[in-house]
Amino acid sequence: MTTILDGKKLREKILSDLKTKIEGFNKKPSLAVILVGNNPASQIYVYNKKKTAEKIGINSNVINYPATVTEDELLEKIHELNRDENVDAILVQLPLPEHISKEKVINMISPQKDVDGFTPYNFGKLFSGEKPFVYPCTPKGILLLLDEYNIELEGKHVVIVGRSNIVGKPLFQMMLNRNATVTICHSHTKNLSDITKTADVLVSAVGENIIEEKMLKPGCIVVDVGIFKDAAGRTRGDVDFENVSKIASYISPVPGGVGPMTITSLMLNTVELFEISNKRLK
Ligand code: NAP
Repeated sequence: MTTILDGKKLREKILSDLKTKIEGFNKKPSLAVILVGNNPASQIYVYNKKKTAEKIGINSNVINYPATVTEDELLEKIHELNRDENVDAILVQLPLPEHISKEKVINMISPQKDVDGFTPYNFGKLFSGEKPFVYPCTPKGILLLLDEYNIELEGKHVVIVGRSNIVGKPLFQMMLNRNATVTICHSHTKNLSDITKTADVLVSAVGENIIEEKMLKPGCIVVDVGIFKDAAGRTRGDVDFENVSKIASYISPVPGGVGPMTITSLMLNTVELFEISNKRLK
């Protein structure tokens, strides 16, 4: 019997608890989101973040810029938000236009307002085994989902396919923190299936439908992070869900698995940063 790792259900539970917690605050937590240009996917992501934040009592302010905005203008805005005591958390929606350095922009965010956990300070803390202000949203959401189903990670072989800064790399360290044995694969990995077949837990974050049943060990746990539209316009994940779900013990669907958990983590992180800044100001 395969169990579905239901991200939607867990999202509702966590957000409902978070809403109650926020109602007990004397002030609303506040999230500032910078959106540059009119990439349709980014616009949908930002809209969903704003809608979710407002539903649970977080103030969210979306600052829109045209794709022609200069790097200096963006850096100046972030500097202003860093100093604004009414802003607890700052998110810059990626990707940015090519003329703007993503690194420079992220580096400008104050680590104490870095809701994605992407600044070198928070990333460095994570990789040195210390606690960052907050953990990156997608890996955090994956761990929340696995924890909800009481999936023990200690001693397990976790294979992560994809080594991006937003998913694979931070998840690698967060799995190590749980005493898993972790292997990370990428586009230059040779004989990918030989490695994925040894996984007790397989996490795929590629953006292509590459994980098939024959690449996996029966009974393994499968977490599908990938999300993209196929030629027919349908939302797909990296995993051949229909066949893999016949052999996996647990599997996360797309949509409805990791996606809802990423946005949930963003809300949790906003509240954590709010609590940190409130303590600092007291
Ligand atoms: P990314 O930066 O494009 O990274 C993709 C990774 O996949 C890279 O490390 C790449 O290797 C690797 N890769 C590509 N082809 C491969 C292959 N044939 N075999 C093995 N590895 C391969 O992507 P990302 O930002 O991490 O996102 C990955 C996917 O997850 C996308 O579909 C994205 O939309 C989705 N995503 C979903 C959520 C969510 O909340 N559900 C959050 C974040 C991302 P190289 O490093 O060698 O190029």
